[in-house]
Amino acid sequence: MILLKSIPKIDKFINNKAFDGFSKELITKISKKIIENLRKDILENKIDSINEDILVFQVIEDYNNLIEPSLQTLINATGIIVHTNLGRSLINKKSLEKAIQIATSYNNLEYDLIEGKRGERYSHIVKTLQNLTGCEDAIVVNNNASAVFLILNTFTKNKEVLVSRGELVEIGGSFRVPEVMAQSGAILKEIGTTNKTHLADYENAINENTSMLMKVHKSNYSIEGFSSDVDFEDIVKTAQQNSVIDYYDMGSGHMIDLPFNLSQKEPSILEIMKYKPSLLSFSGDKLLGSVQAGIIIGKKELISKIKKNQLLRMLRVDKITLSILEDNLNSYLKNDLDDIPTLKMLFTSLETLENRANSLKEKIDTICTAQVLETQTLIGGGTTPNRKIPSFGVTISYKDFKPNKIEKLFRQNNLICRIENEKVLLDFRTIQENEIEQIAKIITKVFN
Ligand SMILES: *Cc1c(COP(=O)(O)O)cnc(C)c1O
Repeated sequence: MILLKSIPKIDKFINNKAFDGFSKELITKISKKIIENLRKDILENKIDSINEDILVFQVIEDYNNLIEPSLQTLINATGIIVHTNLGRSLINKKSLEKAIQIATSYNNLEYDLIEGKRGERYSHIVKTLQNLTGCEDAIVVNNNASAVFLILNTFTKNKEVLVSRGELVEIGGSFRVPEVMAQSGAILKEIGTTNKTHLADYENAINENTSMLMKVHKSNYSIEGFSSDVDFEDIVKTAQQNSVIDYYDMGSGHMIDLPFNLSQKEPSILEIMKYKPSLLSFSGDKLLGSVQAGIIIGKKELISKIKKNQLLRMLRVDKITLSILEDNLNSYLKNDLDDIPTLKMLFTSLETLENRANSLKEKIDTICTAQVLETQTLIGGGTTPNRKIPSFGVTISYKDFKPNKIEKLFRQNNLICRIENEKVLLDFRTIQENEIEQIAKIITKVFN
């Protein structure tokens, strides 16, 4: 046990020159742990010598691992534009710069500059949403899940909400419509069957304890074949005839018509607003292409009631969210759709995607086997279930490397791709033009 005696004394050890410039507290904490482990290893006869340089190296390595930011940028080469695991919609730099100005300065978040008194946090986006959608009023909360919860909690506590059985969906991240409804205090009244729900199912189920007819976007699945559901237009009419609220949880929600004929099956917010609904809610960071938020638009009288719900205080958004959202909504108003990265990706022409794919191929042709091909991808985020959109990709193979191995090597360098037909594929629908050079560098690095 002579080794035990040569364990460095912590007080002396932490004064090693190699630790100059590091946080003394953190170095001490890590050093204690490493020396403690060393003592254990000696007692268990796992080591037969002590090298202080190695100990110092270990401490610095642990230190660096600890302060390394966990949240990192990566390249999305999956082709899925609204990828919830990869941060959903990108925010354009100009909008973020405006938000930086607001957030690093005092501002009129809840201050009425004209009257010189307390103002409304939500006022900053109401006028724009009114102009864009024709809604009477609007409110913004943390995300669309909050919006659903807040609406149900405000209007349907201990009252019946009619929902089609075909719409009792589970959305990624285990957001389950029936469970959210139960937690909000609503009494779920399922109507119709899984594949078919008729207007009469709503009409027959309405009674004096019914408070709402709710429609939920199916998001991540679709029923093909013998199926039908009721148009929201008819739900609105029936609700209004019976003096109950109609509400559509649109999920994604898009302000403009989508390309590739997607809008035939997926009407925009503006199309839905033609029916004069009581309430609509949608996500800020799905196809709207803005920041994480849940946007509620609808009748003034109903929005005022929501504003009085104490829950709103818990779900409210901050100045950074409001600033980015305001800027993005303004882009819609000005028709500057290039300022919305999600839309920009969605609308990029196939010709441009093919050119970009070819430019990557040229850069890496001598390093690996790269092939440009036309492919199809999904928008993602439960926006347009099972509807594929065209794209271009580059498949990568190298010697006898299995696709899984290449995928892992890429992933370790923050390049996320997909495997299709047993080949690694980089999909250009989501690759930004300025990332091509970076991808070439990663590929060169991993195959060298
Ligand atoms: C995505 C989605 C939600 C949840 O929205 P978040 O903004 O992720 O909270 C709720 N309902 C539907 C139908 C959705 O598609």
